[in-house]
Amino acid sequence: MLNANLRQSSIYLGSHLKAWVRVFSPNLLLSKKQVYFRILQGFILSLGAPLGWFFVRLVFFGETPIAELHNDFLLYCYLFFPTAISFILFSFAFGHVEHKLSILNEQYKELSDTDDLTGIKNVRYFRTRLEEEYFMSKRNYSPLSVAVVDIDFFKKINDTYGHPVGDIALQQIAPRLESTLRKGETLARTGGEEFGIILPNTDSNDAGVFAKRLKKAITDKVFAFSSKASSVPITISVGIASIEPNNNMPASELYSLADEMLYIAKETGRNKVALASVNAAGQIPYPSRLLD
Ligand code: GH3
Ligand code: MG
Ligand code: MG
Repeated sequence: MLNANLRQSSIYLGSHLKAWVRVFSPNLLLSKKQVYFRILQGFILSLGAPLGWFFVRLVFFGETPIAELHNDFLLYCYLFFPTAISFILFSFAFGHVEHKLSILNEQYKELSDTDDLTGIKNVRYFRTRLEEEYFMSKRNYSPLSVAVVDIDFFKKINDTYGHPVGDIALQQIAPRLESTLRKGETLARTGGEEFGIILPNTDSNDAGVFAKRLKKAITDKVFAFSSKASSVPITISVGIASIEPNNNMPASELYSLADEMLYIAKETGRNKVALASVNAAGQIPYPSRLLD
């Protein structure tokens, strides 16, 4: 109980502290405004010395600021200008470094979310995104679908043309898959020749339509990976799992279900789409649908 109270109060304090940090360090990030904001902050801080002395003189000696300025103008110049210049210079340098760090941070984030070979998002990003979309779908009472895509007989490409050509194949197939996505949908390379797709606000029927379009985008394309591999037919198998609103199946299980569906698509001959939909009662109405 004590521990829970302690934790609760530290969360409370933590969120207040964060709110204050945000006031003093707004998330302007990549914008140059960050530097101007720091300069303004430096200027405001530099007013502390003369204002403080005004205050002391007023409270303890009854001298008004106007009279003070009149009598001790040079002292106030001395209090204000050197402080202002040093604070502004320091804030400018600080803001400049902060701005550079923000850019580096963004670049680092982008790199850590990106798959080296294909340049699309990686599995780390996919997992985070899936959790986010899962909670969004719960909040909005909207359906959510996840697709797992696997290239058929990919090993044969490696065996026939060599591993480097296999790499080129992945580099060409990934953007082709990506070109079929709509805004808000996420594609990531989740394994060797396996891709995951998150389809927010998409029920099983719409996901089926999407998967057929995806499959067609790959089969219709004449891929040329090298001079020897100049017209390689490629097919994919797709497993899809969808949840209806109000469903409590965890995001990780949703992904596993899509993976199971992929297995069915493979087992039933490849170049197929297998779909499972989990209804509001948490049941999977079998048989799952299978599309050519
Ligand atoms: P299936 O239709 O059952 O999916 O057959 P498959 O041959 O595609 O599947 P399998 O899992 O047997 O083989 C996948 C192959 O993908 C094996 C592996 O060498 C290859 N692979 C995985 N990652 C890479 C990669 O980064 N580059 C290349 N060139 N090949 C890769
Ligand atoms: Mg495969
Ligand atoms: Mg595979």
